[in-house]
Amino acid sequence: MGYDLLSAFAPHEGELIAIRRDIHKHPETAFQETRTAALVAEKLRGWGLQVHTGLAGTGVVATLKGRRVTGDKARDGRSIGLRADMDALNLQEKNDFAHASAYAGKMHACGHDGHTAMLLGAARHLAADPDFAGQLHFIFQPAEEGEGGARVMIEEGLFEKFPCDAVYGMHNMPGTPLGHFAIRPGAMMAASDTWTTVFRGTGGHGAMPHMGSDPTMAAAAFVTATQQIIARNVSPQHAAVISVGHIAAGAYGSPNVIPSQVTIRGTARSYTPADRDLLERRLNELAQGIAAAHGVSVEHDYLRRYPPLVNAAAQTAIAIRAATALVGADKVDGDTEKLTGAEDFAFMLERKPGAYILIGNGGSVADGSCHYVHTPHYDFNDAILTTGAAYWVELVKQELGVS
Ligand SMILES: [Zn+2]
Ligand SMILES: [Zn+2]
Repeated sequence: MGYDLLSAFAPHEGELIAIRRDIHKHPETAFQETRTAALVAEKLRGWGLQVHTGLAGTGVVATLKGRRVTGDKARDGRSIGLRADMDALNLQEKNDFAHASAYAGKMHACGHDGHTAMLLGAARHLAADPDFAGQLHFIFQPAEEGEGGARVMIEEGLFEKFPCDAVYGMHNMPGTPLGHFAIRPGAMMAASDTWTTVFRGTGGHGAMPHMGSDPTMAAAAFVTATQQIIARNVSPQHAAVISVGHIAAGAYGSPNVIPSQVTIRGTARSYTPADRDLLERRLNELAQGIAAAHGVSVEHDYLRRYPPLVNAAAQTAIAIRAATALVGADKVDGDTEKLTGAEDFAFMLERKPGAYILIGNGGSVADGSCHYVHTPHYDFNDAILTTGAAYWVELVKQELGVS
């Protein structure tokens, strides 16, 4: 069956490639995806879907009712959200093919052009024959990269306007074989938080440290102590990361001056809400305790950016069934490793059960036959457009299908 679905997409592959390359050539960053959103809305309307625009500024949501009625209220009232991200990155593209970015300093280096095209492909196919019960919401969101577009859509009423019983997402993965799928139940991507610690003392003459208080000693102790949180507070069964990304103090030309202030900034990654609470609490306790021990003051701030991405067990099983029906069990890894990166689809999964799957973009990063996301030579692989679109259709069959 699955292979029939793939061949059903073959006649539309050219159109999907054209859409993908058009979006790639015209990359738009967080909340500025006006051209992309207009293109998406126009296509969806043209295929007969009911389209809503303006959520989170440039968000587009299209609704499609299934034509099947089972008489079972729960089944007929069921709604599923399928989500793609539309935004590009602030990066100068170094590719020179015809569809390379026309905008200086902006690039689709994460494949969101492909994600948008794949979900459009699914919408077109399903609108032509909505052979399912219940309804679908196709969610095209802005600002996945660092700006939390999913969170903003939710704050602006996404799930009140478009109630969803489950939500699904998909991302391409360079280095994973072409058209293979990878997923895991439970935590799959990390929470990504940012912390800032400022130690303040009197500073003073480098020759007379006893005359004042020295925030550099507190800062040095603190940087080392952050790793004790990982080694001594986080369970050895769990994974977590704390890294320092920025230290600033004093002046290069004044090695004989003890600075009065040291600023340290870093990232904290965790996979469970409890571990996230633990990192936040322990960083603060260490900052306060170390400041007290060194006779300096401290200002410590922990900014929660993206929550951990947690796949629900039932929806992950459905996603695995859909991918397996499409490409065969040998091409589906249902127990893939966690990633330490973050993804703002996690905000949707905080509210609704769902599953986020990876689709192989092909090649090998090691031998240079592919480029990783967020690098200037990356390109989404058009060879997976129809597989990705067909995955969405197969997922709808598994979720809302009537046999
Ligand atoms: Zn990205
Ligand atoms: Zn991405």
